[in-house]
Amino acid sequence: MENPLRAIVRYFVIKRLSGDVITLLSVKEYLVDQRSPSEIGHKYRISKYKVRGYVQRVVEKAGSQRLATAIVEKTWRLVYQVQPIVIRAGGRWVCLLCNEEVARPEAHVRKQHKKEIEDAVNQVINKLQTSRKKLK
Ligand SMILES: [Zn+2]
Repeated sequence: MENPLRAIVRYFVIKRLSGDVITLLSVKEYLVDQRSPSEIGHKYRISKYKVRGYVQRVVEKAGSQRLATAIVEKTWRLVYQVQPIVIRAGGRWVCLLCNEEVARPEAHVRKQHKKEIEDAVNQVINKLQTSRKKLK
């Protein structure tokens, strides 16, 4: 199994690059801020089952809720800073790198932008390690 930190960062980085920030924020608000799935669902206009589904995916990658919470707590801001490459424009999704409309942003990013995914994942993990060193 891939190490949990990397697996969780990659999961959120792909969402973020695809123009989705709700997955990251809803999981963070559930695990870190301890908000309820229905409260989070109401805020972002998604079902509470969807919120639970996102949380479940992340907890599975960590193997435990406690570890998932610790990882999300220290990485969510860094992932949030990653710039999307697919954006919503005029009611359509547009890839800024390919300069074309895409029907399914996440599928497009996963297939066409593997290098951008790995670069962004490495960037987040490097920043995390740098900030750790500064604390010592
Ligand atoms: Zn593209």
